[in-house]
Amino acid sequence: MSNLDTLVRRLGADAVVTDPVTLRERATDCWSLALLRLARGEEPTLPAALVFPGSTEDVATVLTWATESCTQVVPRGAGSGVCGGSLAEAGAIMLDLSRMNRVTSVDTVSRVVYVEAGARGDQLEDALAEHDLTVGHYPQSLGISTVGGWIAASSAGQASTGFGAIEDVLLGLTAVTAQGEILHCRAVPRSAAGPDLRRLLVGSEGTLAVVTEAALACRRRVPGWDWLACEFPTFAALMDGLRAVSQAATGAAIIRGYDELDAQLSFGALGHANGCVGMLGFPADLPGLADRKLAAIDALAQAGPARDLGSSYGEHWWEHRNDAVQTYAAIMGPDRAFGSGVIVDTVEVAGLWSVVPALYESVRTALSSQAEAVACHLSHLCPSGSSLYFTFLIRRSDDHDAETRYLAAWDAAMRSCADAGGTSTHHHGVGRLKSPFLEAELGATGARVLSRIRAALDPDAIMNPGVLRP
Ligand SMILES: Cc1cc2nc3c(=O)[nH]c(=O)nc-3n(C[C@H](O)[C@H](O)[C@H](O)COP(=O)(O)OP(=O)(O)OC[C@H]3O[C@@H](n4cnc5c(N)ncnc54)[C@H](O)[C@@H]3O)c2cc1C
Repeated sequence: MSNLDTLVRRLGADAVVTDPVTLRERATDCWSLALLRLARGEEPTLPAALVFPGSTEDVATVLTWATESCTQVVPRGAGSGVCGGSLAEAGAIMLDLSRMNRVTSVDTVSRVVYVEAGARGDQLEDALAEHDLTVGHYPQSLGISTVGGWIAASSAGQASTGFGAIEDVLLGLTAVTAQGEILHCRAVPRSAAGPDLRRLLVGSEGTLAVVTEAALACRRRVPGWDWLACEFPTFAALMDGLRAVSQAATGAAIIRGYDELDAQLSFGALGHANGCVGMLGFPADLPGLADRKLAAIDALAQAGPARDLGSSYGEHWWEHRNDAVQTYAAIMGPDRAFGSGVIVDTVEVAGLWSVVPALYESVRTALSSQAEAVACHLSHLCPSGSSLYFTFLIRRSDDHDAETRYLAAWDAAMRSCADAGGTSTHHHGVGRLKSPFLEAELGATGARVLSRIRAALDPDAIMNPGVLRP
């Protein structure tokens, strides 16, 4: 009997899929380079099987079997990751959580939702709407990503300034280790019971355990948004203005700041031609909203004169906030809207405010040496710093040349980020794409500590090979 036959016997034939069409469909995530290789006709590496558990106990069964049979395991949520964190490996199985998508209960007293890790963001939000609640975690990929993927890739939503990133709403979780042990971290508001094991799994990208269930903090749904936007003559002035506003505690839950090119790309439809744009979104039911907006305008003015753009920029952004999902699929998917030889991607670094100006200049210069259309916005602002989200495009005569340039662009961007004192990733994680640069960020000791944690939890090295390996 083959290894897979043993798994089928333990889990049921329904749960183990080996037909090549389904394997191919789920063999890659949304990493630009993986999509480019598919688009140029390369066959992706297929896993030995896709395994669809229906419960935490099923996951334990699979991982126990995987350890016994020395089979490598690649966990998969919805495959929206953009760093190659969920790519098939020859001989490995992909553990696809998509059938574990139930919202199991809602504690309306504590405002906490209990949900299985394979639930997509839109499914979760639809279920919470019945209780007038929301998690407030709104990644652009809400409808194509899962709760488990958010935890594993350390995700941040577009309202993270006000509502926090995934670690801020994660109150409890259940996970299964490589050896099939079930780890249950009960839902509590905070705990000093030793190092926080919930946090250990945030950003672990399927290398330490498989997250199967989570308890997430909720809040009352926002009835609408009130917007403010200003035009700044320079990006330096914009950075100063947004730093001041993010330190003024005005209650803006969304703060974004666009450099000139990104402002043209984002607001060209409104006739925007020149200048950088700062944009603030306030929950419409925020107490004292009028005074808060005045305080925000005061803070923005500390950076010098800024032209009031009214509410239309915010309204436009909100309506189109997730359009990038379709745009990205059109360019990097089979349609290849921009033709062959073209690859687009995003680099989301972060740094303290004292570092942000130099980080902007150095990463932008590095990317511009290899790519065109390098645009940037600040997002996920907090009082101590910000993320800088760059988009870039590479256009070469053929796809192989584009790949070479793409790797050079990432190499240049990651080196310049490290030199400027930033972190190489704010919310997309590491995957295979950034693992060569991880040691530069963590330091040799940090990299060793990470390897030891990994070896302790996964002594047979079966979990997500190639990912997060400094
Ligand atoms: C157009 C677009 C826009 C995006 N916008 C945002 C954004 O605004 N904010 C943001 O944070 N991200 C964004 N992303 C990136 C992506 O959606 C996130 O990284 C998301 O958290 C991945 O979730 P997933 O379920 O698709 O995970 P996958 O891509 O399936 O997996 C991601 C990683 O997590 C591991 N993993 C998945 N599920 C589990 C589990 N249950 N247990 C253990 N490991 C697991 C995988 O092995 C892999 O390493 C965007 C992506 C795209 C394509």
